[in-house]
Amino acid sequence: MTAHTASALLASAPPRFPLLAGPTPVHELSRLRGALGGPSRCPRLWIKRDDLAGPALGGNKARKLEFVVADALAAGATHLITVGAVQSNHARMTAAAACMAGLGCTLVLTTSERNPGTRLEGNLLLDRLFGARIRLVAPGPDGSTENPHEAEAIREETESLRAAGERPYMVAIGASMPVGTLGYVMAMEELRGQLDAVGIAPARLYFGAGSRGTQAGVVLGTKLAGAGWMPHGIAVSPGDPAKTARAVGLANDAAALLGSPVRVTEDEIVTHQEFYGAGYALPTDAAREAIHLMARTEGILTDPVYTGKTLSGLLAHVRGGEIDPGTSVVFLHTGGAPAIFTEAGASALGVG
Ligand SMILES: *Cc1c(COP(=O)(O)O)cnc(C)c1O
Repeated sequence: MTAHTASALLASAPPRFPLLAGPTPVHELSRLRGALGGPSRCPRLWIKRDDLAGPALGGNKARKLEFVVADALAAGATHLITVGAVQSNHARMTAAAACMAGLGCTLVLTTSERNPGTRLEGNLLLDRLFGARIRLVAPGPDGSTENPHEAEAIREETESLRAAGERPYMVAIGASMPVGTLGYVMAMEELRGQLDAVGIAPARLYFGAGSRGTQAGVVLGTKLAGAGWMPHGIAVSPGDPAKTARAVGLANDAAALLGSPVRVTEDEIVTHQEFYGAGYALPTDAAREAIHLMARTEGILTDPVYTGKTLSGLLAHVRGGEIDPGTSVVFLHTGGAPAIFTEAGASALGVG
């Protein structure tokens, strides 16, 4: 599959509602590399700044939502409904995107012991600023993947919106749905072009893996763009092997939307499971160290829930000598900084 074919496929992709101002920057992290032992120990490190993608403090969900919001508008929707944790970046960006598209927005957010939702901070504060209707629900029984409280709240909210004459559109958790997956297919073509321009052909691309829409788009997009890097997902929560199956399904549904015969298989999905600690949003020492190191060498913010854990995986692979220092590696920064501005975030950073 040539890069030319990738751009041709993307030219006939479904429409996008513009949320990004243009391509996000790519630059080298020389001071971080120096702190990791320099050229003899550490590969060249590059960063793709999707923390600067889209409105409202940015993040990876902006790329997915460009396609999802366009799909909602094409369906004649007047209102977006979505779900997430109470400090969901996806919920915050959906609320902002709804404002930009002139749509209403309802968020069904699951509280936790660490984030009971009673504190107006971080993403929840921004959700309110964007005027979203917010419905807080308790978590489901321990160990269950489906939360019955969430499902019930979605049903009720959908019915009451319909009764009020609205046409609600359900956005899947993380905007990880086939049409949203196209966001990272496009991003990989964008990244390949940017790296070609500076003559860099990285060996690896690191990114955080949660609801897996990013991973699906990254893996399919890497293939379609003919890029030579290996995508390395760092899991930020448990859930495999079901989540790998979800990534494969999303990638292949997205390929079908593009009219491409290319398919992704399970063995092409690499997700490292050693870096999320005790679970989603629960702090790890390694993430705290990674966040401080990135801040103090590069002046870049990463967060305790997603990008700090992802970076801790990349650092462990560098320090463990797993990556040839003669190569280049890209860190895909997916956003998430609002988590820093919460009580739980401050305590995870050891500054609270
Ligand atoms: C949602 C999110 C991710 C994970 O992306 P998925 O597509 O859900 O796997 C990574 N980083 C940040 C900051 C996020 O908000």
